[in-house]
Amino acid sequence: MNVLTVTGKRLFLTGDEAVARAALEVGVEVATGYPGNPGTKAITALIPLAQQYGMAVEWSVNEKVALEVATGAAWAGKRSLVGMKMSGVNVMADSLLSIAHSGVTGALVIYAVDDVGVYYGMVEQDTRYYAQLTSLPLLMPAIPEEAYAMTRIAFTVSEQTGAPVFVLSTTAVANAITAMKVGKIERDMHTRPAHFARNLAKFTKAAPQWCRDQHTDTIKRLEQAGELFKKASEDYGTSLVFTIPGQVERTPSSEIKRSGIIVAGVSFAYLQELRQHYPERFADIPILKLGVVNPLPQREILDFLAHVDIALVLEELDPIIETQVMALMAETGLKVEISGKRDGLLPRVGDYSLELIETALAHLDELAGRSPVWIKLRRPESSAGMQEMPSLAGSKEGVANQETPDLNHNGQNKFHIHSEIAALPRSLEFCPGCPHRMTYYALNRAIEQSGFTKDEVITTGDVGCTIIGMNAPLDACWTEVSMGASIGIAQGFKYAGIERPVLAAMGDGTFYHNGIAGLLNAVQSGVNLTLIILDNSKIAMTGMQPDPGTGRRTTGEPSVRADIAMLVRGCGVEYVKRLNPYDLPKMINALQDAMLHPGVSVVIAEAPCTMQGVLINEEPVQVDQEACMAGRGCEDTPCYHKVGCPSVLLSLEDVRPHLSIDTATCVACGLCVAACPYDAIKPLPAVGKEESITGNAFAGVQLRYLLQD
Ligand code: SF4
Ligand code: SF4
Repeated sequence: MNVLTVTGKRLFLTGDEAVARAALEVGVEVATGYPGNPGTKAITALIPLAQQYGMAVEWSVNEKVALEVATGAAWAGKRSLVGMKMSGVNVMADSLLSIAHSGVTGALVIYAVDDVGVYYGMVEQDTRYYAQLTSLPLLMPAIPEEAYAMTRIAFTVSEQTGAPVFVLSTTAVANAITAMKVGKIERDMHTRPAHFARNLAKFTKAAPQWCRDQHTDTIKRLEQAGELFKKASEDYGTSLVFTIPGQVERTPSSEIKRSGIIVAGVSFAYLQELRQHYPERFADIPILKLGVVNPLPQREILDFLAHVDIALVLEELDPIIETQVMALMAETGLKVEISGKRDGLLPRVGDYSLELIETALAHLDELAGRSPVWIKLRRPESSAGMQEMPSLAGSKEGVANQETPDLNHNGQNKFHIHSEIAALPRSLEFCPGCPHRMTYYALNRAIEQSGFTKDEVITTGDVGCTIIGMNAPLDACWTEVSMGASIGIAQGFKYAGIERPVLAAMGDGTFYHNGIAGLLNAVQSGVNLTLIILDNSKIAMTGMQPDPGTGRRTTGEPSVRADIAMLVRGCGVEYVKRLNPYDLPKMINALQDAMLHPGVSVVIAEAPCTMQGVLINEEPVQVDQEACMAGRGCEDTPCYHKVGCPSVLLSLEDVRPHLSIDTATCVACGLCVAACPYDAIKPLPAVGKEESITGNAFAGVQLRYLLQD
């Protein structure tokens, strides 16, 4: 029996395993991650249980993809977990910001572990900054038992607020083993059918107002999470923020100042150990334990500070809590002496230790006017943190050298800026004749011909021109996260149990940027999905910069041209079709075929950007007004309402709708020609002539661009 599945007993679990157990109990259905110690054991612990509990568990190709896959599942209403060490947070940051602002509809818990003291390698960093940067809630356990309890709470609060929630551990907590009472594995209680509702304003970043609204929502979700965390002790029997009282009444004659400790993370475990050994020393020192680091519980901190003259802040790495405490005091006019990192007492580098905290307590005694009894300035060789420990005498110099803190962290937002400033309504659209329009048009037809409506088949979108396919009338893309993320999100949808076809779309630039990793991952996962690569061999949206498929270096010299199809095959994809998107019938067939193909299928729609001035066919087209049936049977005017080309003009001023083509901008791609069921749109010279070229004649025509190379 796997120890993680034992019920009704006290289990000995590491911090990592405690997170895994909590996730198992609360019905996590998708768990992804990238191995890296500390932090590997959480996902590792779930792997042998995947089949038994119907979970999708994977080591993804990197942390960004891992986050995207987990997010796809959480967007489909599932509970998902993503785990990594601190360096991986940097890798996923691009998508993290975007996902943080979109929020989730299920629950997403991000379990990260900071290697404080750098026992495993890589840059020592404080991941709490990411919670601040993203306005995501962050819980910080002090012991494995808290990691367990906090993970359970994190899932619930994530689901209640829609905010992904960080559970941030450190090496000491992730690796520690403690006995803990665990709950029941009640997965069925949390199971929901997979469902994803198309909502561009939430799941894409394609309009400035949407981005501003999402930012506002992110901040609201954080505030809501802060309130829910406060209720955690009632709702879950776990206090995330609590005070251990001390005798802090000051007698009028007393010279001794009242002192207190604000603590977060593993430092609390060290304090507890000292309290056990020297309870009398803590009799008059209250402790405020913060399990919630973002949003910082300001009210509780102010209440605590109101009863002390000096407060010692214990937190590893950067003075994030300490700086916010000082900002709070500046705002409220509270006068309390704060000691920690900013006065040079405690190091910003390396992990804390019992000895280091004893030394800090001795300093607190000194500040309070008591004779210090703690062992001062012990410097054991083995403690990385102690190597950075300054002398107490040095702390005064440290104070003198501190720069004035930036106190602009105003939680009250006095300078409230109205985000409702309305942007001019403007819909992004593809240029006339854009090959991407052809591809999405073909996709919509392929979906219809496969027996679905386009509201039933998810196509995840990506960054760049290709996301314009989300707009009417194509309405093709459903999501946009970050460069190359569309395929990871699509995989997450499949993991969540979306049974209908799921497609991902991205451009060639995004494919090279990060899509290859997502494709590799999807192939490895064995899910069924179709990736459409809209390849115009350039980074078109930003001004035709070259990418590896251009065949030119940035400075214009010829270079080796990457072959997308070969790369795709190299990733293990067997179904690869490279097509000319202007050849609509073939494109529609290929997409239909690809959607049915088991595993990952890839359709490459290859054609240059029409901004390069390419005239696709010989002549612009025009509407034959005699043949046009607008208002006489062609009521839905598909040339206009399904194509969405800015060169197709609709006037409602006449008795019946009047369709025409702006021949100055039409590049004769033939899409409106193909869309017209009455063959009423024809190349200009042919209008009125018997030998007019019909719509079908455009399909498969040898296009001029193909002859240009
Ligand atoms: S042929 Fe039709 S769809 Fe193509 S560019 Fe001209 S007007 Fe637009
Ligand atoms: S689709 Fe054809 S018949 Fe219908 S409005 Fe357009 S040009 Fe006229």
